Amino acid sequence: MTQISTRVLNLAPSATLAMSQKSQELKAMGVDVINLSVGEPDFDTPLHIKEAAKAAIDQNFTRYTPVPGYLSLRKAIVDNIAATEGVVYDPAQIIVGNGAKQALCNVILATINPGDEVIIPTPAWVSYVEMVKLAEGQSVLVPAGIEQDFKITPDQLRSAITPRTRMVLICSPSNPTGSVYTADELRALVDVIAQYPDIIVLADEIYRHINYTGSFTSLGTFPEIADRCVVINGVSKAYAMTGWRIGFCAAPTPIAKAVSKLQSQYTSGASSIAQKAAEAAYTGPQECVEEMRAAFQRRRDLVVELASQIPGLKVNKPQGAFYLFPEVSAYFGKKFGDRVINDANDLALYLLEQAHVATVAGDAFCLPGYIRLSYATSDDNIREAIRRIADALARLA
Ligand code: PMP
Ligand code: GLU
Repeated sequence: MTQISTRVLNLAPSATLAMSQKSQELKAMGVDVINLSVGEPDFDTPLHIKEAAKAAIDQNFTRYTPVPGYLSLRKAIVDNIAATEGVVYDPAQIIVGNGAKQALCNVILATINPGDEVIIPTPAWVSYVEMVKLAEGQSVLVPAGIEQDFKITPDQLRSAITPRTRMVLICSPSNPTGSVYTADELRALVDVIAQYPDIIVLADEIYRHINYTGSFTSLGTFPEIADRCVVINGVSKAYAMTGWRIGFCAAPTPIAKAVSKLQSQYTSGASSIAQKAAEAAYTGPQECVEEMRAAFQRRRDLVVELASQIPGLKVNKPQGAFYLFPEVSAYFGKKFGDRVINDANDLALYLLEQAHVATVAGDAFCLPGYIRLSYATSDDNIREAIRRIADALARLA
């Protein structure tokens, strides 16, 4: 029998990608599925970025790239962060990888030893716990439900810290909830972390530009933790570039060096053409970012308005990203024929089969009782999907 490593056997496949694949398979079979499962902008990559990629090919940017990324791209990233967050990094602190996903995994693998504890507020994006598992670390989950707007308090953070805590992972704006920590809320969390100099802060700010609050504070701006704060970002969400696979970490130099060493042995530098496209994204006109952000905000308003009218669904008003994370436990125990809906997994499956709407159960984000809807789709799709969900839920008895 072929041996598969325990490391991989213990790993859960990405539930968001699995659900999206399932809905694509149903679509291929002719079923009219509305896919609210995967989180990716439905917009095309802006033209000037695509043109830069074509020019990169013609100019023969087709060879191995430096492991941390082209210096010109890292400088563009430094300038972009300086302009948006007011923090000045050295290009040596920026390591470009294959998407924010690899950037996150790189940092976790480069800093976490077996048994080290990583504090993860939940609900949390599907991959964090699995990445910590890969590093043989221990995830310490800190739940924050809808009643606290899906944000942990400083007391919750303090209580979760032990002598083995090595990292706190904060995602804001959040996937899967869209919650955004305010500057004051972050300050209160930083005040706790400041008392523990050995704790690294890993800040996943990939949705930083999809924000409806009018202001954003990066965890990279707090001087007390600057020597141990790693910020993750990339072009996937802000510039509708999920398929290009470019993300980065902005890290204290020793961590950046460690990440680069790791990357040199298992992926090398990211794609030359995609890096040139990303450089154009950061140096070119930024209106496209605002246009897409404004479109997501309109859709946020629409989905919140429509979903709030469904009886039994508890809905908050997300302040960023493109997800709604309604509490759905009022439907648990209800039946469709002789089939009982016991949990959010059953409900997501029921919605896929009976309403032909693909969602993701909250269990995948380590918070049962909820489902995640991605509203990165057209207004018509949003209207029709919510109509179908309301209709299917009304049929449960
Ligand atoms: N972090 C979060 C919170 C995400 O939602 C995603 C998107 N899957 C990523 C990281 C990874 O982004 P990328 O596509 O750039 O790898
Ligand atoms: N961020 C997206 C999501 O959560 C992409 C899927 C993934 O990478 O898991 O749906």
